[in-house]
Amino acid sequence: MSALAVRDLDAGYADFQALFGVSLDLAAGQTLALVGANGAGKTTLLMAIAGALRPWRGSISLDGTDITIAPDYQRARAGVVLVPEGRRLFASLTAEENILIPAGVRGRADPGPWTLDALYELFPMVAARRSHRAALLSGGEQQAVAIARALAANPRVLLLDEVSLGLAPAIVDAFYGLLPAIQAVGVSIVLVEQDIDRALAASSHTICLLEGRLVMAGESASLDRAALIAAYFGAPAGPADHASAGPGGAAPPAGPGGPA
Ligand code: ATP
Repeated sequence: MSALAVRDLDAGYADFQALFGVSLDLAAGQTLALVGANGAGKTTLLMAIAGALRPWRGSISLDGTDITIAPDYQRARAGVVLVPEGRRLFASLTAEENILIPAGVRGRADPGPWTLDALYELFPMVAARRSHRAALLSGGEQQAVAIARALAANPRVLLLDEVSLGLAPAIVDAFYGLLPAIQAVGVSIVLVEQDIDRALAASSHTICLLEGRLVMAGESASLDRAALIAAYFGAPAGPADHASAGPGGAAPPAGPGGPA
């Protein structure tokens, strides 16, 4: 049974449809990378899974239990936790107070393996700054607090929306280096990542969205990189594809139909 199963999901905003019939499966401890150009629907899909956006059609289940219409706080208790783009920390609370929010507010007192000590071991940079206000932390420290806060909710499924955005490559490397420790306790991860090479390296499976539709899916180790980049841009795969300058690299933006 899949830890997370999404079936034929349609979702959008008012009368704008952002997702069209998206399906995915994720086993316990697996990592799925979600790639696609700006506006492809990646955040919308994470929000629908997290319960921040009610789908129009289709279903979402967690360990076989249908959670399609469960509100976000119920999903968080059930173990679906989102680290949103932009982190959304409480700026005037300390790092530690932010991390302890799931236990206090979501009513999920059991942190599972993610006690404060375990989190500080995972994120020594946060341990050193635990009593500093979030507003005074660097971007990398804030991102570490946001991930630690999500883990403190003892997630079964962790949704990471562009955690590397705006951070120095060395910090991003450090974050990705932590993923195996998180997977090792059975947490399934869906990560949105603009850098295709990072996405492929960090995940067991990758899916690509284009204008709200799933256009490619497969095991990350066996996906053809050039074909994935072509799918990302909505261009037909070919020998002149952007094999050396993909998303996250120096590729020029290409509109629908891709470069000539
Ligand atoms: P990005 O990489 O830029 O974050 P994305 O792949 O995450 O892009 P989404 O943010 O999911 O894409 O947006 C999908 C589509 O939905 C886009 O066309 C976007 O303009 C639209 N959209 C997103 N949020 C809203 C909103 N609150 N109201 C209306 N349309 C929205």
